[in-house]
Amino acid sequence: MISTNSNFPTIYRKRIDLLQVNLGYKCNQVCKHCHVDAGPHRYEMMSPDNISKIPLLLTKYNINTLDLTGGAPELHPYFRTLVSTCSELDVQVIDRCNLTILTEEGYQDLAKFLAKYKVNIIASLPCYEKENVDKQRGNGVFERSIEGLRILNRLGYGKIESDLELDLVYNPQGPTLPPPQSQLEQDYKYHLSNKYGVFFNKLLTITNMPIKRFADQLRQKGQLENYINLLHGAHNESNISNLMCRNQLSVDWQGKLYDCDFNQQLGIPLLGSVLTIDNLIDAQYGLDGLKINVGCHCFGCTAGSGSSCGGALTS
Ligand code: SF4
Ligand code: SF4
Repeated sequence: MISTNSNFPTIYRKRIDLLQVNLGYKCNQVCKHCHVDAGPHRYEMMSPDNISKIPLLLTKYNINTLDLTGGAPELHPYFRTLVSTCSELDVQVIDRCNLTILTEEGYQDLAKFLAKYKVNIIASLPCYEKENVDKQRGNGVFERSIEGLRILNRLGYGKIESDLELDLVYNPQGPTLPPPQSQLEQDYKYHLSNKYGVFFNKLLTITNMPIKRFADQLRQKGQLENYINLLHGAHNESNISNLMCRNQLSVDWQGKLYDCDFNQQLGIPLLGSVLTIDNLIDAQYGLDGLKINVGCHCFGCTAGSGSSCGGALTS
């Protein structure tokens, strides 16, 4: 367990403009770097009752973006109901899609559904080389990811003239910081379009957090302490004002609230107590100005160019 006692600066919340909801830990993949330990063996799923409260929460706090994550969020039986309901409220939905789900048996119509509701897709592809992707995400994942990208491109995703946004996520293979985002985006675009004929909008670089499966790997190799020191030593104060926890809220599959997805995985609750969607729906006041629960893992967000679910924080 990573300590919440650290010398990380004190930070406070602003107005929530993005709600990130983890629909459950079931996934069709088992990636080595997965910070939620997701996989086909996981059974945790958000209840229909809590799913039905998400639109109420968005409306009450005037939150205009819903970011759905998992596991593979599309495996939740109420995924499509939630997406269509929230889209009709003019909320922009983001689907954190692993690409291979698009070719799973029973999900071949998923891409068309996402296009119909103009869902933004953020898809993990940690390299443009097959060998590196398969090493981190499993054998055959690269080929299936390219096939998923082709399906999305055919629907208009990732094309300049289209309003269907498709962003890719890069994370380092090991205990290093990501390279500069804009340079790497050019490399990705060059290789993926020339070699595979696939397109995307933006590349988001994300620093690996030293928690869960990735932390276990580093611990086994005796690299965990060095990696934490690397993140701490690369702390960049200018990233503080852009940290995602300042204007986002994270909800777990049980409806409990956290400052961010990483705190969720570490079991560090919002405001240090167990608060739920129900508490927030009933609350008289919002969360603006309240203190964020930080720990030494937070240096993963401020190291170098910074990191968030939306990529680097500074260029
Ligand atoms: S696809 Fe995503 S959620 Fe699934 S195992 Fe890989 S990193 Fe985890
Ligand atoms: S891990 Fe990052 S996003 Fe989460 S509370 Fe710490 S600084 Fe904020």
